[in-house]
Amino acid sequence: MEKSIYLDHAATTPLSEKAFEAMKPYFCEMFGNPNSQHVYGREGAKAVSESRAKIAAAIGAKPSEIYFTSCGTEADNWAVKGTAWQYGDKGKHIITSMIEHPAIYTTCKQLEKYGYEVTYLPVDGEGFVSPEELEKAIRPDTILVSIMFANNEIGTIEPIKRLCEIAHAHGVLFHTDAVQATGAIRYDVKDLGVDMLSMSAHKFYGPKGMGALYLRNGLKMEKFITGGEQERAHRGGTSNTPGIVGMATALEEAMSTLEQDAAYVASLRDRFVEKVLANIDDILFNGPKDMSKRLPNNANFSFRYIEGESILFSLDLAGISASSGSACSSASLDPSRTLLSIGVPVGTAHGSIRFTFGKHNTIEDVDYTVEQLVSTVKRLREMSPLYHKK
Ligand SMILES: *Cc1c(COP(=O)(O)O)cnc(C)c1O
Repeated sequence: MEKSIYLDHAATTPLSEKAFEAMKPYFCEMFGNPNSQHVYGREGAKAVSESRAKIAAAIGAKPSEIYFTSCGTEADNWAVKGTAWQYGDKGKHIITSMIEHPAIYTTCKQLEKYGYEVTYLPVDGEGFVSPEELEKAIRPDTILVSIMFANNEIGTIEPIKRLCEIAHAHGVLFHTDAVQATGAIRYDVKDLGVDMLSMSAHKFYGPKGMGALYLRNGLKMEKFITGGEQERAHRGGTSNTPGIVGMATALEEAMSTLEQDAAYVASLRDRFVEKVLANIDDILFNGPKDMSKRLPNNANFSFRYIEGESILFSLDLAGISASSGSACSSASLDPSRTLLSIGVPVGTAHGSIRFTFGKHNTIEDVDYTVEQLVSTVKRLREMSPLYHKK
């Protein structure tokens, strides 16, 4: 590849070298099925069990509370559908937010087709779910509250502990999609009090196609992937031993340098935001203005009078990879549900770009990107009839 600057770490991250090395022996040599009763199987089972313990330790859980899945999306589906199936006799009402990732949002939409009722809580202008709104939405037939830990587009970190307390005060289970938070923010599941939590390895420099669901001990939960007796009979399917080892190695590594890495990416992000706001007019900086309340790596802007797609295309030509929002919906031309929910007008939402920094980015990356962005926005606006009419 020619000059390339990757600023899309919310979409995915490169695999850590350490995780890659740790995974390698489990493809061709120690390839045994962890469920097999021979030496190959025992080797695999040992690796899976050690990995489970590492992941549990990273989030303050017990190893018996960690269940491996094929991705973050599967963990989210399991939490929502598993609860709906397990507790559907108790009630059919679920509460979530307007700004959830499609893994939660479309799962809730699907359940609506099967007789469940879903309340999609609004958020404020910075993407925060209000504890008061949550309390008002809870009904006697509410069985689940699912609110994301940190938003993938605008970086808002939700007040999970407070929201969870409210759900529990009404006897309602609480799930959080912590896919963006895990490895980026230090948290402890026991302190948060959540019943279920989803994570995904490829968002913290682990391999793609690996996720996990934390299920609090004692919580009865219906299976989502039915099959064999894997994952203590909670999730069928032969264990992805290399993926599991890679996930655990990457998370252990991320946790060991979390504070330094977060401070470093935040310093790059802050420099970027400052320079962009100083050099480009007619823009919105989306998400929390208090940087301590947003993911350390996230910056999201709406550039008035121009299309995000055109900006992205120009940046791509200049060797810069950013995103027009969520990689999961950017194939569609609908404006982002998250941006509309925080009150960005439809037209302006179309001119939005998300930049998410990572630990391999440099100050030079930031300065070059600002330079390219300033000239791109200027050029596109010169060609924009909307800009001349303003
Ligand atoms: C990426 C992401 C997911 C999906 O995780 P996959 O492992 O890619 O399926 C879910 N929720 C959020 C907030 C994400 O950012």
